[in-house]
Amino acid sequence: MATDFAVQDTPVLQLNHVSRVFGDGRIIAVDDFSLDVHRGEIVSILGPSGCGKTTTMRLIAGLDEPTEGDIRVHGRSVVGQPPHRRNIGLVFQSLAIFPHMSVHRNVAFGLRMKRMAKETIDRKVEETLDLVRLPHRDYAARMPSQLSGGQLQRVALARTLATEPSLVLFDEPMAALDRRLRDYMAVELRKIQKQLDVAAVYVTHDQETASAMSDRIVIMESGKLIQSGSPVEIYERPANRFVAEFLGDINFIESTAIEDGENGSRMARIADGALAIADGDGSRRDSGTVFVRPEHVALSQQQSATAGLCGEIVEIQFNSGFYRSRVRLSDGQDILATSTDDSPLKDGIGSRVWIGAVDGRVRVLRP
Ligand code: ADP
Ligand code: MG
Repeated sequence: MATDFAVQDTPVLQLNHVSRVFGDGRIIAVDDFSLDVHRGEIVSILGPSGCGKTTTMRLIAGLDEPTEGDIRVHGRSVVGQPPHRRNIGLVFQSLAIFPHMSVHRNVAFGLRMKRMAKETIDRKVEETLDLVRLPHRDYAARMPSQLSGGQLQRVALARTLATEPSLVLFDEPMAALDRRLRDYMAVELRKIQKQLDVAAVYVTHDQETASAMSDRIVIMESGKLIQSGSPVEIYERPANRFVAEFLGDINFIESTAIEDGENGSRMARIADGALAIADGDGSRRDSGTVFVRPEHVALSQQQSATAGLCGEIVEIQFNSGFYRSRVRLSDGQDILATSTDDSPLKDGIGSRVWIGAVDGRVRVLRP
């Protein structure tokens, strides 16, 4: 799935050690942030509210200027250039659809600002509406009040894409949509972005949206870039506890020793048993924290070479097709497990189960 971007290509966007400080230096909204985005690549900046995402987007767009660092588009510094000279498209949370204008006029807006000929504008509006799957003949004359939330998203997207920007910035444009529509739009947006081969930066605090549509996710916390990688890398190999927790449910388990097992394997001693840890993960030491996602925990009613940790079931929930159980170890630690298979749970709360994990999915948390 990894996309290869030719190394020799100049990135469409480069942030080099960008900082933005507010209020006499007391608020560091963006802190020494560096990032490259290539043609055809969609990068999500993912982080909690207040971590500096919107400020970063405003700096790229030219709505604000960095206090330090450089921002380049196609290799040229744009610092000090007004927004309309940067050839960057924006789709922000508010969408800013004009309620008194038809869909056609909304999409034509940016083109009219560029003083294009009417025939050119009409052709581009038609093409772009088709691209976002709002066929011109059905939708061009409609007013925004006659559209659903998802359709308004498409109008906002069409209005931005019609001007053919080389970079498109999205700042949580789908935050107001419900989960299902958001997931659908995320996939649609990615398709359109790939079709146009533009560079895109998508800002969100929603890890599912980020995972569904991005080539790369950049994790931001307190203005800083914490980790950058593919959605799978970030999920499977989080750089720290913050990233691990931000991306979904996870078990952190304290082990009393990391030691060598059989055939070169490595084991984390936990309570009165052990779990095998991923190859090459963690050196021998007295204690440490390991982590495993609940869907990678494997429960069984029998002890085996791969299920060598015993616990008692203390909670079972059924949740849209998945059984979610909590198992308590002899040292009092709880492990969360999710599975579509309820057979290990059939003796119910209070019964004993053996805990293992999908091969390679237990990792040592870097200290
Ligand atoms: P996010 O979009 O990730 O929620 P923001 O970029 O909006 O975060 O804000 C990052 C930090 O910068 C917050 O602490 C916010 O209060 C602060 N901030 C943003 N804009 C300004 C401003 N114009 N003046 C002072 N502080 C600001
Ligand atoms: Mg924001």
